Amino acid sequence: MHRSRPRGRYSEGESEVIMEFLFNSLLELITQTSTNLPPDARAAMAKAVQSETPGTQSAQALNVIASNIDMAYDDEGPICQDTGMPTFLIRCPVGLNQIEFSQAIREAVVEATRRGKLRPNSVDSITGKNSGNNLGPGTPVIHFEQWEQDNIEVKLILKGGGCENKNIQYSVPCELDHLGRANRDLEGVKKCILHAVWQAQGLGCSPGALGVCVGGDRANGYTQAKYQLLRTLDDVNPDPALAKLEDEIMAEANELGVGAMGFGGQVTLIGCKITAANRLPACFFVSVAYDCWAFRRLGLLLDAQSGAIKQWLYRDPERPVARMTEGEGFPLTGREVVLEAPLTEEKVRALKVGDVVLINGPMVTGRDAMHSYMLKHDPPVDLNGAVLYHCGPVMLQEDGEWKVKAAGPTTSIREEPYEHEVIKRYGVRVVIGKGGMGPKTLAALEKHGAVYLNAIGGAAQYYARTVRKVTGVSLLEEMGVPEAMWQYDVKGFVAIVTMDAHGNSLHADILETTGEKLEELKPA
Ligand code: SF4
Repeated sequence: MHRSRPRGRYSEGESEVIMEFLFNSLLELITQTSTNLPPDARAAMAKAVQSETPGTQSAQALNVIASNIDMAYDDEGPICQDTGMPTFLIRCPVGLNQIEFSQAIREAVVEATRRGKLRPNSVDSITGKNSGNNLGPGTPVIHFEQWEQDNIEVKLILKGGGCENKNIQYSVPCELDHLGRANRDLEGVKKCILHAVWQAQGLGCSPGALGVCVGGDRANGYTQAKYQLLRTLDDVNPDPALAKLEDEIMAEANELGVGAMGFGGQVTLIGCKITAANRLPACFFVSVAYDCWAFRRLGLLLDAQSGAIKQWLYRDPERPVARMTEGEGFPLTGREVVLEAPLTEEKVRALKVGDVVLINGPMVTGRDAMHSYMLKHDPPVDLNGAVLYHCGPVMLQEDGEWKVKAAGPTTSIREEPYEHEVIKRYGVRVVIGKGGMGPKTLAALEKHGAVYLNAIGGAAQYYARTVRKVTGVSLLEEMGVPEAMWQYDVKGFVAIVTMDAHGNSLHADILETTGEKLEELKPA
């Protein structure tokens, strides 16, 4: 590890001590990044809570998010169950042994996964098999750069799949929905960025933050866009033209009305950070990395001699962690509809878009692999009247019993090709997820008598606490932890009806109204 001595010059004992320090430092970085939102993201989310109109669905969602941030910190549990692709960016002195350093990162990742700070998230793209420990080709992502300093800087981003799926790259000139033609100038860039926010709706767990790269080639454009997420949300771009563009995007995107979770509201974006890279004469890309409110990014300065932590980055040691809420939990109004599962058709047909529900009783999880399975085989448990939750939880076995460590919703639209058939064949009455579903599911809800509920994306700690007991699990060995069908007994699971059994969809309505707003914002 020592930067000035070649590998192998340490005594065995010396080397072991250094690697132990380094391992502990990296494990602490992963744990803190997953469980404790950085101060700039906390401040941005606190402002969002203050800015939202009280009593609206977006305000309710932000309250749940605020509670969830506190709960994650209190229990050192993952803020969101999707702990993302661990992405490490390292600046190191010349001579650092990058092979040993990478090995220490991998060991820390495995241990963090074993402790439930990271969800097993590394899936073989050919076989579909989850490695179970977050190691595999391309996982974790590790980038090294050299610098003329004696210490080692390590930054970590944990960015989940829901927001990763909403990243977008534009090749301008291009035609954009509601905005028309985007040309190769800053006006065109601005159109692309506003379009990126609009197309994300609530699917990336808004309010979100953008990293943007103007120019570059396709691969580096995306890389540089992601690196912009390393800037603090409240900094000012040193380039006046880009600083102005960032301010304009923040103001105009927050006029769109997407709101928290896409429920409609005042706060759609908590940050926009833009850089520019030179491009080929023939190319002009605008690359946008969309990150969710669960903006998990921290860093360390390490002693290159010992691997010990010298300083935390993005944190002020003088300032304690600011709590997001006074109390705990979701402020109930008394107007919530209590649903006791399993449910009858009559009960769910009585629900309408906008109702807030509290679910008690049995609930099963199921996401991509399970939906695909259910089209070829009967489900592992009876789904008649069931509540089906799109969720890939973090689970740990303690004293021989399964415990839920994090259990927020996943993006539902991925199940759009399957869900109508699952509802029809098996009699599911309630589907829960985030971001809403499409026309096939909406038609099936109406025809067969079922509803779609939007839970609050990323509120993994909040929802984990609603599980009274894990009553079973199916296909764990075959599918891995996130994709298996977990059976829970829940109490007070809160969600909002966003697609009802009468053909109404809040998601379709918000897409339309925000599209109209986008047209109004179009430069003349
Ligand atoms: S908060 Fe939402 S988008 Fe972000 S990682 Fe969690 S589920 Fe994915």
